[in-house]
Amino acid sequence: MSIKVLIVEDEEKFARFVEMELNYEGYKVDKAFDGRTGLEMAQTGEYDLVLLDIMLPGLNGMEVLRRLRRTASVPVIMLTARDTVVDKVSGLDSGADDYITKPFAIEELLARIRIVLRQRSQHPEHPVLKAGELCLDPGRRQVTVKDSYVELTKREFDLLQYLLENKGLVLSREQLLEKVWGFDFGGETNAVDVYIRFLRSKIDEVFDLKLISTVRGVGYVIRDEN
Ligand code: CA
Repeated sequence: MSIKVLIVEDEEKFARFVEMELNYEGYKVDKAFDGRTGLEMAQTGEYDLVLLDIMLPGLNGMEVLRRLRRTASVPVIMLTARDTVVDKVSGLDSGADDYITKPFAIEELLARIRIVLRQRSQHPEHPVLKAGELCLDPGRRQVTVKDSYVELTKREFDLLQYLLENKGLVLSREQLLEKVWGFDFGGETNAVDVYIRFLRSKIDEVFDLKLISTVRGVGYVIRDEN
C-alpha cells in the first residue's frame, strides 16, 4: 500500500512540482490550496503525512496545525518561506514534527519525510504520555520515573494511562470507574480511591512527587506538578 501525503500549499505551481517529485518516489499525493480545505482533508485520517505551508489563505498554517492537533496525530512537516527562530519554535510547539524552509532542495524534503515516517512507525499511534518526570509508554506498557521502572498491575496501569490522557482535567470517580473498570466493575464503590492510593504509593511516595491530586467532592487529576 502506498503512503499518502497531503500537500497544503496555495502556490499551485509549487504544489504540483512537489506532487510530481513525490509521485516519482512512489507516494500518493492530494493537494489543498487553502487552509480550511487542507484542515478538513487532514482531519479525515486518510493521510500518512501532511506537508503544511504557513502562509495560506483562509486559515494560516499555524492555525490549521493547532486545530488539527486537537483531534489528529498525523505527522506534519511545516513548509515556509519565513526563516525566523520564532516561527520554528512556535511550529514545533504546536505539534509539528519537522520544519523546512523554502526554497529547499527536493532531496532534503524527501529525506525529512523519510525520517518523520520512520520515527512515527517506531511509535505507531501510541505517543508516550508524560506528567513531570513520569513517562508512560502505552505501546511498550512501561512506566518510568527519572529513568527508573515502575511495576504496575494491569488495572493500575490503565488507570494511570487514563489520568495521563486527560492530564490537567479533574476526573470524577464515576468517569474513572466507567472508563477504566468498564463492565468489569463489580459494584465496589471505593475501587478508584483504593487504586489511586496504590498509584500514589508506587509513584508519588517512592519518588517524592505530587502528581496525583484529590479534588475534594469531585475526583482526581494528574498534573505536571502540584
Ligand atoms: Ca503560501
